[in-house]
Amino acid sequence: MLDLSGIPVVDNHCHPVLLNQQVDAPGFRNYFTEASDPSVPEKHIPNTVYYLWLLRQLATIYGCPNTEEDILAIRSGLDDDTLLERFFRAANIDTLILDPAFPLPHTCYSPEHMGQLGHCRTARMLRLETLMQQLIIQYQNFDEVVDRYTLALTNAREQGYCAFKSIVAYRTGLEISEWSKDQAVSSFQEALLAIRNGQLRIAHKPLIDYLLHIAFQQAAEQELPVQFHTGYGDGDTDMRLGNPLHLRDVLERKDYQPMKVVLLHESYPYSQLGAYLAAIYPHVYFDLSYMIPFVDRLEMLAFTRQALGVTPASKLMYSSDGIHVPEMHWAGAIRGRSVIGQVLQEMIDADEIDQEQAYDLALQILHDTAYTVYRL
Ligand SMILES: [Zn+2]
Repeated sequence: MLDLSGIPVVDNHCHPVLLNQQVDAPGFRNYFTEASDPSVPEKHIPNTVYYLWLLRQLATIYGCPNTEEDILAIRSGLDDDTLLERFFRAANIDTLILDPAFPLPHTCYSPEHMGQLGHCRTARMLRLETLMQQLIIQYQNFDEVVDRYTLALTNAREQGYCAFKSIVAYRTGLEISEWSKDQAVSSFQEALLAIRNGQLRIAHKPLIDYLLHIAFQQAAEQELPVQFHTGYGDGDTDMRLGNPLHLRDVLERKDYQPMKVVLLHESYPYSQLGAYLAAIYPHVYFDLSYMIPFVDRLEMLAFTRQALGVTPASKLMYSSDGIHVPEMHWAGAIRGRSVIGQVLQEMIDADEIDQEQAYDLALQILHDTAYTVYRL
């Protein structure tokens, strides 16, 4: 197998970890599922392949038996900074590109502190729907919200952001349409009525789509990438709407071509479709996440083969989608290198490429492509 352990990864999509790392067994399991029903972590996570793999890896790190009990006993003896430092350093990270809007920032390590402990760089993206929600709650007036929103998106790089991110797939789906201002205003009125206790979960299609188009114009002007959640996600997602082929109208717009589009999480299980889009459209890039979605190695080999089989490596980027605990960022990195190494070795064995070419492709996926896309 091609050894890629020497390549420091740019993790092009991940989240901060929690300030409080102390957790019991049910809490720990809960970090490793997207299912919202509590019976899933309780009854089924211990019988899931990736979780059993994770426990075996952690047992090796801690030098203990591979039971949850033994591992968590040692883990809870470490202070939080030490835990982060240990896993982030072992992951060999060059840069973490963070979505700091989730989990809630006051519950998390700051990007700066994570970078310090991990001896790595950090960069951040701006999550569009969170910004929309905040402004709607705060201003409650359509024109005012649009003005403030547009202002917040201008000069994004000077404000410290290297990308925008959209989770519209979770809310109203990736088929982002064009609506008139009147339609957006009446959708806005409905959103106001949905504010409860000062909170809003924006799921109002004409309004979200309208505001997204403003962001796309901004991104195109600033040549800023936009990450889209696609495919596998939280329990509340309607996966039918998360198929990246729905983005066609946005991808076809000529005036949006300067905006690079990143399809997150290998669009799983629409991986072949997302990889195809990245192969065809010059401004589309494909993210390969190796910790979330929660799939086992065989499935990771499958989507990595599908991606590398059709998409240039200069369109592929590694991520962990790590969140909550540093084990995720670490596990993503060791898995990513290992799975990509195995697939490239298969391609060497099939006489598709030679050793040197394979290493160069790996370097692009794990490191170089992201440097270009996000201008790190
Ligand atoms: Zn994410």
